[in-house]
Amino acid sequence: MRRIVSPGSFDPVTNGHLDIIGRAARIYDEVVVAVLINISKRSLFTVDERVGMLREATADYPNVRVAKFHGLIVDFCRVNEISAIIKGLRAVSDFEYEMQMAQMNYSLAGIETLFMTTNPLYSFLRSSLVKEIAQYGGDVSSLVPANVAQRLRERLSEP
Ligand code: ADP
Repeated sequence: MRRIVSPGSFDPVTNGHLDIIGRAARIYDEVVVAVLINISKRSLFTVDERVGMLREATADYPNVRVAKFHGLIVDFCRVNEISAIIKGLRAVSDFEYEMQMAQMNYSLAGIETLFMTTNPLYSFLRSSLVKEIAQYGGDVSSLVPANVAQRLRERLSEP
């Protein structure tokens, strides 16, 4: 089975992430979306909440599976028999960091990284920006799936 992983924080998942996941799912037999457990990074949603939102948002894709991981993505790949990583590229600014990661992961474990250019509709979109807009009462309904927009409203109205 040809399996690829889409790793990230997904705090929360955006339409930009879903665009890449959906396009990868048309090419590969299975896409494993891997949510990074990073206890040192402050997040708005817990890992389980992020996994839950991703599962709801990808429910229509039969060949997308959502999991969580900590440690090195190459170890996750080995355990799950995954040979490649898919990354979305939004702009040239993404490229330098992503190239280093790709080369490191290849040299560590022979894991390939494939880059997909973002849908131009989403080239400005990142989770941190979505959170900032939502925090100040902005409308994010065109940037994230409906379940995420709802959870953002709930979370940000909590005291
Ligand atoms: P971010 O906080 O930058 O959204 P994540 O770690 O959640 O970061 O994103 C995981 C990966 O998803 C990124 O490395 C990038 O490859 C991809 N990605 C994120 N946003 C977009 C987007 N708008 N278009 C295409 N790919 C994206």
